[in-house]
Amino acid sequence: MPRAESCGAQYGARVDVRLPYPPGARSGDRPTAVEPCSTCGELTGRGYPACLACAEVVDRPWLADWLELLSAERVSAGSEEERSLAARVLAAPAGTHPWTCTDWALRLRRCVECGGEPGAGDPVCLACAATDAARWEWDHTADPAEMTPDEHALRLAVVVLRAPQRRRVPVVATWRLAVPFLLVGERVTFAQVRGIRAAVLAGRYADLAGLDRVVELANLRLTPWRRHS
Ligand SMILES: [Zn+2]
Ligand SMILES: [Zn+2]
Repeated sequence: MPRAESCGAQYGARVDVRLPYPPGARSGDRPTAVEPCSTCGELTGRGYPACLACAEVVDRPWLADWLELLSAERVSAGSEEERSLAARVLAAPAGTHPWTCTDWALRLRRCVECGGEPGAGDPVCLACAATDAARWEWDHTADPAEMTPDEHALRLAVVVLRAPQRRRVPVVATWRLAVPFLLVGERVTFAQVRGIRAAVLAGRYADLAGLDRVVELANLRLTPWRRHS
C-alpha cells in the first residue's frame, strides 16, 4: 500500500510504517432486526446514550473489542491499569488498535481542558476539538477492507450521539434516526443521509421517526406534503 511507504519515500529511506489496522466492531452481538426498544419505545439505538437498554446494544461491538484487548494485555476492567492502558492506546499511532478501542479508551479518560469525555466535552473546548479530529485519522488512512463505509457511518453516528452539544441539531437528529439501521448492518448511503437530513430540516422528524425502512426515511422529503394534498 502506498500509505506504508509515504513517510520515508521522499528521503530515499524505505520506512515501513504499515500498522496492523485491526478492524473494529466485527465482534459483539448486533440486533438482527430494526425493532422498538422495550425501555424507551423508540427504534433500538435512538435512545442512545440516555436509554440504558439502547446504550447496552449500541456499545456491544465497542465493548467486545475493548474486552478482547484487556484480555490480551491481562488487565482487569475497572482497574487503574485499565486507565493506563487507555492512555497508551490513545498515544499509539492510528492503526495500532481497532478504532473501537480508541473510542472506548477516550471514554475512560478525562479531557485536560474541560473535564469531559475527551473529544465529546464542552462545545468550545479546543482540546476536545483536537481529540475529535485526531480520532478520524484511522478512518481516513485505513484500507476499505479494514473499515467499510457502514462501519464508518456507525462510528460517526455514535460519536455524534455521545456529544450532541458539539453538533448542529439537524445533524444529531439525522444520525439518531439512522442509527437503528446502521446497528443491524443495513446500508445507509450518504445520499440517504442527505435525504433524511433534508426531511429533518423540513420539520418532519416526527414523521421520520414513525418509519421503519431506511429507504422511506431517505425519500420522505420527496413525497408530497400531506397538508397540500
Ligand atoms: Zn431505548
Ligand atoms: Zn475538552
